[in-house]
Amino acid sequence: MAKFRFESGITLVYLLVGSGWILFSDELTDLLAPNPEIASHLQTYKGLFYVIITALLFYFFIRKHLQKLRKAEERALESDKLKSGFLANVSHEIRTPMNGVMGFAELLKDESLSHQERLQFISIIEKSGERMLELINDILNISMVDSGQVRLKYTSVNIFELMNSIAQLFLPSATDKGINLILEACRESERVESLMMDRDKIVCVLSNLIKNALKYTNTGYVKISCARDGDFVRFMVADSGVGIPEGQLERIFNRFVQVNMSYTKTYDGAGLGLAIAKSYVEMMGGKIWAQPNENGGSIFNFTIPFKPVNRPKKNDSKS
Ligand code: ADP
Repeated sequence: MAKFRFESGITLVYLLVGSGWILFSDELTDLLAPNPEIASHLQTYKGLFYVIITALLFYFFIRKHLQKLRKAEERALESDKLKSGFLANVSHEIRTPMNGVMGFAELLKDESLSHQERLQFISIIEKSGERMLELINDILNISMVDSGQVRLKYTSVNIFELMNSIAQLFLPSATDKGINLILEACRESERVESLMMDRDKIVCVLSNLIKNALKYTNTGYVKISCARDGDFVRFMVADSGVGIPEGQLERIFNRFVQVNMSYTKTYDGAGLGLAIAKSYVEMMGGKIWAQPNENGGSIFNFTIPFKPVNRPKKNDSKS
C-alpha cells in the first residue's frame, strides 16, 4: 500500500477542519450560546477561532514531523561521520599489515640472515596476513548479516568441550602478553552439558569478546565463564583492562564505533566485531551487553536460550 505522505495528510486535515467549520460553525455557536447577543459575538470572532484552531493543529502536526526529520538528519550525519572514520580506519588496517608483509618479505631476501631472524620475519608476515584476513572476514560477515544470508545451524554442543577449546585457542596469545586466562566453565552441578546451539556463531561471538578482552588488557586477567540463567545460558568475558566509559557501554555495539576514534589510535581494529556479535546473538534469540568490572576493566555478557538436547529414553535405546 502506498505510504500516506505528510503533505497529503496535512492538506486533508486542513480541508476537513475547514469544511467542517464552514458547514457546522453556525450550529455550534447556536448550541454554545442560546442567547442571540452572545451568539452574534461568537459569530463575529468565528474566523479568529478557526485561525487559532488550525494554527494550533498545524503547529503540533508540523512539530512532530520536523522532530522526526531532525532525528533522522542527526542519525544520517552520525552514520556519515562513522563511515568516513571507518574508511580511514580500514585503509589504516590494510596499509599497516601490508607494509609489514612487503617490508619483511624484502628483508627476507638478505642471505646473511640467521635461521632465528628468518623465522621471526616469517612470523611477522604471518601475523600481518592474519590481521588482514580478520578484517576481510569481518566485512564479509557484516555484509552477509545485512543481506539476510546468515542462517542458524543448531547441533548438539558439549558446553565444557566448547569453552575448553576456545580457551586453548587463546592461551598462547594470553601467555605472550603475560595475561592470566581463566576458564570457569558452567558449573557441573547445573548439569548443563550438551545444549542445542549454533556452535560456529557462539564460537565467533566468544572469540570476538575474548580477542577484545586480550587486546584492551595490558596486565591482569581475562576470565571466561558461563552459567544457567533461567531459560537462558549466559556467557561472560571479564577483563581487568582499560575499561569502557559509562556513556559508551551501549554505543560500542553499533558498527564502526570505537571508543578511541583518533587517527593514530593505539589499538588496531575496524569497529565491526561487536556489531557482528550483537547481530548473531539477537538472531539466536539472546541479548548482549557490557558493564564495568568492579576493580577496573569490563565484563561482556551474552545470553542464548537454554535448549537441552532431548536424550533418548531408556525404552528408545532398547528398541
Ligand atoms: P574493534 O575492532 O575496534 O575492537 P569492536 O566492535 O570489537 O571493534 O569494539 C568496538 C570498540 O569497543 C573498540 O574499539 C573498543 O573501543 C571498545 N571495546 C570492545 N571491547 C572492549 C574491552 N574488552 N575493553 C575495553 N574496550 C573495549
